[in-house]
Amino acid sequence: MIPSKKIHVLSEQLASQIAAGEVVERPSSVVKELVENSLDAGARTINISVQEGGRKSIQVADDGQGIAADEIEIAFMRHATSKLASADDLNAIHTLGFRGEALAAISAVSQVTVVSRAQDEQSGTRLSLAAAAVASRDTVGAPQGTVIAVENLFYNVPARLKFLKSVTTEKRLIDEFVTRYALAYPDVRFRLTHNGRVTFQTDGSGNVLDVLVAVYGPEIARQLLPIDTPPADDSLAADSGHHRIPVTVSGYVGPPSLHWANRSQITLFMNGRFIKDASLTYAVIQAYHTLLPTGRYPLGILFISMPPTEVDVNVHPTKTEVRFHHSNAVFGAVQKAVRRTLIDATPIRSLGAWSPPGGAAGWSPASPGWSGDLDEHAFARREELPQQEMRFDWTPPELDAATGNTAVIPPTRPAPNPTLAGDKLPIMRVVGQVGAAYIITEGPDGVFLIDQHAAHERILYEQFMAAWEQDQVASQGLVAGTAIYLSPPQATLLADNLDVLAELGFQIEPFGPNAFMVRAIPALLAKMDPAQAVTAVVEDLEQGDAPLQGKIEAKIILRVCKSAAVKAGQTLSTAEMEAMIWQLEACQNPHTCPHGRPTLIYLSVAQLAKQFGRI
Ligand code: ADP
Ligand code: MG
Repeated sequence: MIPSKKIHVLSEQLASQIAAGEVVERPSSVVKELVENSLDAGARTINISVQEGGRKSIQVADDGQGIAADEIEIAFMRHATSKLASADDLNAIHTLGFRGEALAAISAVSQVTVVSRAQDEQSGTRLSLAAAAVASRDTVGAPQGTVIAVENLFYNVPARLKFLKSVTTEKRLIDEFVTRYALAYPDVRFRLTHNGRVTFQTDGSGNVLDVLVAVYGPEIARQLLPIDTPPADDSLAADSGHHRIPVTVSGYVGPPSLHWANRSQITLFMNGRFIKDASLTYAVIQAYHTLLPTGRYPLGILFISMPPTEVDVNVHPTKTEVRFHHSNAVFGAVQKAVRRTLIDATPIRSLGAWSPPGGAAGWSPASPGWSGDLDEHAFARREELPQQEMRFDWTPPELDAATGNTAVIPPTRPAPNPTLAGDKLPIMRVVGQVGAAYIITEGPDGVFLIDQHAAHERILYEQFMAAWEQDQVASQGLVAGTAIYLSPPQATLLADNLDVLAELGFQIEPFGPNAFMVRAIPALLAKMDPAQAVTAVVEDLEQGDAPLQGKIEAKIILRVCKSAAVKAGQTLSTAEMEAMIWQLEACQNPHTCPHGRPTLIYLSVAQLAKQFGRI
């Protein structure tokens, strides 16, 4: 029996710690609350910087309207908000925040420093708090906007600390959250830095396509189908009670040929707010009914808009759960919008009703692996997406080196400079390309030559490894399937590894003696001949001694990335070269390709001066 104790009111500190637990579950919840505050403050630029997956520190800096000096302490009190005045306002919420809990909750379970300067103020204010109590306050010089730094999250709640997942998992949750918000707010510049390295950024151009490329990479981005938004009078969604409410659904969905092992690629936004809703997620999946292999899930990023009076967002302190007043109508609107988009994009319809711009030259209905190419939007997008021109054509690996113009390599390869030993790449800007194989860049440190194939291999390798570790490898389904015929030993080898290959995005079925049917390949290889892609993997598996399990995966991943990487001999646009350097910068090990060859070589300013006899 519980020993009897007197009923008493909890201390303010304990009560606020308990309340904080509901709002702040993990580092990504802090990022979410701070980013939502920045968006509510009208920020155009949001810089998020985390250390150790957010456990050590999280900083969010914005250029929004700032907090007035005389309100800054109030902002950290429980139930303090500038966004809600009366109970009526609760019925139609237009801001992401409204409960006035986040800053109080965060400061109850961490050490917080805020620097903010409001629009019409001459100087900024810096306030430090620990366990919800103000520790110091000063007047400081600061640009307009707000910087909130949260350190040592849960330092005073050991129970919570214990439940945090690994740095990688926490970092992934933050990544997912920031990239999704970047998609919903393409006109805001987002930058996410992890342990000092920029891992994601957008330019705030307002073009969702730019953000799609930054989030999903060019191979997947170019295949996504924009959701058809119906004419306005058609957007009234009715439920069974014949309530008609205006619901619009926009965004992007993947073609049925692109699929994942789980639902994690379905993202929902309602009136600009990231929401989790099992029923609407199911509406998206259902729209793909019969179009996807069983147990596989599509990609969708959906922006649902409706009058704020139609939805209650005040369900849970995290505000990601919502209740719709007419949920059937919303379900129907989502399902219909996605289904219509998929049907409009099917090649069957296009064959009869539509011919490609500029005549049918070069276009063949039998092109393998339908990937949305026949959809007119995809043609329109082709102009808008510079990176999508990065073709991943297959050439046998032994030709790689042969096509590169080796004469452009300086005769004496300079020794790697000690300042390049760290993880990060030095500051550089693209100058051009030589021999269609090397990107030349320059910066304060000197001149760099980047091997485009090796660099791209490194980028793809790290992206693929990350996706695989999270069971999120994208598969590119083939409409018709491709049969391959192998020698008996090769066939045995392939048959033995079908499970491993399935995890890596290859769906292959036995198809008679020594024959297989390839149903899907990793999305990275979308542009390759599926038979060649599989054969290349089998040939790699054949080489050397039978690798240990675990190593088999690594071997296949290496092969996939090698096949998918841009080859020497391929001309790249400046935008493509810049994108590649950005992505290389985001790698853990940007200095070598996965086989250990250097991705870049370097001629320092001092070496240049020496070579020219200046010193
Ligand atoms: P809510 O967002 O629900 O109002 P918060 O605790 O998140 O509650 O924030 C409290 C208040 O602090 C906000 O209402 C807003 O006035 C102010 N505030 C918080 N973050 C910012 C920011 N980045 N820029 C400007 N004001 C902010
Ligand atoms: Mg808030």
